Amino acid sequence: MRLEKCYFCSSTVYPGHGIQFVRNDCKIFRFCRSKCHRAFKKKRNPRKAKWTKAFRKAAGKELTVDPSFEFEKRRNVPIKYDRELWQTSLKAMKRIEEIRIKRQNQYILNRLKKGKELRKEADVKEVEKNIHLIRAPGAKGKQLERKMVQVIKEEDVDMDEEV
Ligand SMILES: [Zn+2]
Repeated sequence: MRLEKCYFCSSTVYPGHGIQFVRNDCKIFRFCRSKCHRAFKKKRNPRKAKWTKAFRKAAGKELTVDPSFEFEKRRNVPIKYDRELWQTSLKAMKRIEEIRIKRQNQYILNRLKKGKELRKEADVKEVEKNIHLIRAPGAKGKQLERKMVQVIKEEDVDMDEEV
């Protein structure tokens, strides 16, 4: 039993699935489904179709330099069925998947955090700029204005923490 990778989208081609094309120079192209085969026949570039692994790699969407992917790397030796080995590798794959998802989530969180910070900065700037609009009628002097900005900043922090 040998699992191949689709030439176009890089997903796994399971036995009995997909289609295979042998070019007249003996190079074999395997496709997981007709969608990929069709795209190949139309001479589409996998790096330009957004749904392929090649695109995601080229666009830096995935952790491609992650050493845990070494595990998934295609080796040129057919994998023999070995119950013990199969089970350990299954465990390892699960663990790798867990780590990968964790890292990806962290990456997304970091991105969101950055956006949040920028938004907050903009908010604080806007308040500072338009402080005269919300100044209490009796209040006078720059000191108090600065204090109010400070208060708003602190409130912002509190709100962030609750979310
Ligand atoms: Zn495919």
